Amino acid sequence: MIHFIGAGPGAADLITVRGARLLGGADVIIYAGSLVNPALLDYKKEDCAVYDSAGMTLEEVLAVMEEAEAAGKTTVRLHTGDPSLYGAIREQMDALDEKGIAYDVTPGVSSFSGAAAALQAEYTLPDVSQSVIITRMAGRTPVPEGEKLSKMASHGCTMVLFLSTGLLEEVERELMAGGYSPDTPAAIVYKATWPEEQVYRCTVSTLAKTARDNHVTKTALITVGGFLGKEYERSKLYDPTFTHGCRQGTEG
Ligand code: SAH
Repeated sequence: MIHFIGAGPGAADLITVRGARLLGGADVIIYAGSLVNPALLDYKKEDCAVYDSAGMTLEEVLAVMEEAEAAGKTTVRLHTGDPSLYGAIREQMDALDEKGIAYDVTPGVSSFSGAAAALQAEYTLPDVSQSVIITRMAGRTPVPEGEKLSKMASHGCTMVLFLSTGLLEEVERELMAGGYSPDTPAAIVYKATWPEEQVYRCTVSTLAKTARDNHVTKTALITVGGFLGKEYERSKLYDPTFTHGCRQGTEG
């Protein structure tokens, strides 16, 4: 059996209870060492074999899984954040299907949630934005034409950019071409929930300079939008005048 597990964004205690339990039972762990906090390995049992997938190919990862499976062992494939985002798990699952090897998936806390916590922010404020676009700048890995950053930016909603910290000049250009004003609030969150977490607040037009000044080149998320500003309407849900399924309001 193979367990794909989301490790969470960094802090070792942000893995789910289920993820930690499965990690503790694994005979083999293959973890994405470039991003997963090695402190997560403290959950493993003593005689567990550990592989860092950072330097491995898909074929090598699958070979380790297949060998473990043939020996009747349990394997954990540990991905950073939540495996459904930029986790490259689909190709692994499809290959396991072909080989007839069973697997399941345990979700994790994505770094975009970790970043909101670091910012002490809410992505979805009434009247400001009710949508979050999770995307990336096209780089060596292309992005489908319909998802060009300027097009995504045209909605003016909350945006969270993964995998784009090395391309911030282009990010600024595309965001402004899409319609964000240069002074739209933005923030760079470096290593959210890790001990070395840093939050750099800036604007859309100062993203590249802010990253440069603070030597941030990777393991960061770029967040953009009015949710980082001061203005918003309070919620209807907790408005004393508003009636809903669980509470009678003072009006209407
Ligand atoms: N599946 C992961 C994302 C993997 S892609 C998740 O759900 O978070 C790798 C990218 O995620 C990094 O380049 C960076 O942009 C972002 N990232 C991962 N962990 C991060 C963290 N703790 N803080 C900020 N960004 C992070």
